[in-house]
Amino acid sequence: MEPNALQSKPWRQRARRACDWVLQMFSADMPPWAFFLDFLIYPPLILLCVGLAVAEDAGFAVVPFAVLGLLGWSLAEYLIHRFAFHHAPLLQPVHLAHHAAPRDLHGTPTVVTVAAFYGLVYWPLRGALPPDAAAAVMAGVLTGYLAYVALHYVVHHHGSGGRVWLRRLIRLHAVHHHDAAHNFGVTSPLWDWVFGTLARRGLPPT
Ligand SMILES: [Zn+2]
Ligand SMILES: [Zn+2]
Repeated sequence: MEPNALQSKPWRQRARRACDWVLQMFSADMPPWAFFLDFLIYPPLILLCVGLAVAEDAGFAVVPFAVLGLLGWSLAEYLIHRFAFHHAPLLQPVHLAHHAAPRDLHGTPTVVTVAAFYGLVYWPLRGALPPDAAAAVMAGVLTGYLAYVALHYVVHHHGSGGRVWLRRLIRLHAVHHHDAAHNFGVTSPLWDWVFGTLARRGLPPT
């Protein structure tokens, strides 16, 4: 064996390990570090958007844009869950795996969501709105997304802790896992109510 072949072997192993590590993010059953990466990446991104939104001294004028972003995410959460997660070819199998094993760590890789938020939301917004208003909308959208990821985790892994609002959300989402034609909203039942897919009852007797 040539000396060069011996030297390159550890590098090849390291490169393969790095590839495996990155690919873990895209597996249906995510390792905990990949699942919880959202909680590390999104808070500073939200703070960055808030910083950009208030940098031009617009004060409370940007607040309605942030509220618009929150509402926009809430609608997107409903539509993505109802139509993409339950019908799109690549996403449906992962989502059905979540329905079958709700306590396993299934999620969308952080690198994919960050790229989608930048390319599909922030970039078009920058072309349509002043920079501070676009940043305020993004702060609302990203806060809504982080709330969705956090609440969906809490709904499946923790109790309500006596909080009435959380007990209601847990129950509504449990109905969705039993009857996948209802209750697509995780952070709020607003859009289920608007589009007529809200079901407060429907769990089998325990
Ligand atoms: Zn769920
Ligand atoms: Zn579902």
